[in-house]
Amino acid sequence: MEVKVRFAPSPTGHLHVGGLRTALFNYLYAKKVGGKIVLRIEDTDQSRKVENAVENLISTFEALQISFDEGPVQGGDYGPYFQSERLPIYNEQIKLLLEDGKAYPCFCSAEKLEEARKKQSETKQTIKYNRQCLKLDAAEARKRMEKEPHVIRMKVPGEEEVLFYDVVRERVAIRCEELDDQVLIKSDGFPTYHFANVVDDHLMGITHVLRGEEWLPSTPKHVILYQFFNWKQPKFIHLPLLLNPDKSKLSKRQGDVAVEDYLNKGFLPETLINFVALLGWHPKNEQELFGLAELEKEFSLKRINKSGAVFDIEKLKWMNSQYLKNLPIETIMNYAEPVFKAEGLETTDVGKFQAVVENARKRVDTIHEMIEHSTPFYTEVQFSDEDKNLLRNEPSQKVVTFFSKKLSNKSNWTEAEIKILVNETAEKTGVKGKDLYAPLRLALFGAAHGPDIPLLIDILGVDEAINRLKVQI
Ligand code: GLU
Repeated sequence: MEVKVRFAPSPTGHLHVGGLRTALFNYLYAKKVGGKIVLRIEDTDQSRKVENAVENLISTFEALQISFDEGPVQGGDYGPYFQSERLPIYNEQIKLLLEDGKAYPCFCSAEKLEEARKKQSETKQTIKYNRQCLKLDAAEARKRMEKEPHVIRMKVPGEEEVLFYDVVRERVAIRCEELDDQVLIKSDGFPTYHFANVVDDHLMGITHVLRGEEWLPSTPKHVILYQFFNWKQPKFIHLPLLLNPDKSKLSKRQGDVAVEDYLNKGFLPETLINFVALLGWHPKNEQELFGLAELEKEFSLKRINKSGAVFDIEKLKWMNSQYLKNLPIETIMNYAEPVFKAEGLETTDVGKFQAVVENARKRVDTIHEMIEHSTPFYTEVQFSDEDKNLLRNEPSQKVVTFFSKKLSNKSNWTEAEIKILVNETAEKTGVKGKDLYAPLRLALFGAAHGPDIPLLIDILGVDEAINRLKVQI
């Protein structure tokens, strides 16, 4: 049997780290076993719909190079799966449950429901629908359905418990008594998440449901629906919660968790995939850095953890620094180019741009941090009063004059030759150490600390270096 999984987000905002984790685990599992992954937009809650959420989602997945086998790809020729476009399907299915007496209409007003809830809470009972409308005569209820606003609820069976197996949690049993008669169709005629989700998972042939642990309390209701319809249940795999370092639940309020924000801050897609793959899953050994293709081979449901996964931003930064250092330079240049351009830094001299990126990528955690290390190579050096004093003093003058004169002798210096020239400058001027390096670096780069002098000159080019050494202060 072919494995088919799905990522089923509600378009209520940007894709968050938790959503990416769910999508990625589904994707990896499908790839691992040669199955398919469906993208299904669960947009039945019209009030929570956010404009452009789907477009954002698709462009974020594009940036991460995650693709779907079925789903609403813009301009694509497969899908689209928008639940809001599938209302007739849910209507057809709910009719079957109504006919079987497994679902019933409820005409209770919001005020009436609130009143009943209040009573239950005062008498310390489980808060759930009091089944007033279940007492209605069936014929009368059918008539009222034609003209009165109503919802349709599932009739939780009288059995003692609902039982199901989760690949991660193993046996899960919930007492039916604790379950509410869940609304399946709302008064606006749209299905609720529970109903549309189960109907679609079945009709789309979903074999494995991988989703966040926060959905675990919904699963017994889904299991009951599968039983009502006599449908085969998919395998359930609930992924552990994502936590802040203080072990509280990772939430939007605790800082930004939108994937797009991380991309916009200069975290690489490669890093995000690798980092998120390790949120609740562990590899066979101690290896920490995995490319997507490697993850597709390594992933296994067996190594999904039970306990919550801590989102550690320091680890994310470390991982990004590793990718910045180790990915091919062309890849880093591609990521850096738009960021440099946005900062007004010229990237058309490809040789220089490459050298600048090569220098900066070893020193930072994000693409954006490269700007600070790169700007001095492109813009005129600015000196503070302190810098000026340093450059004006006698040893500095001696160093800069000697060094620049020698440098002007030819144009094709190698880094090794410049190193020798620096040593010669020390010998001839008698100025050493910090007093030697600081004025040269300051004149060339505008900062007393930074890359080695030979590297600086290599990046700037000899002509620009000589120009800068002619500094008038
Ligand atoms: N629409 C739900 C969500 O937004 C899907 C949950 C599930 O995968 O069943 O996460």
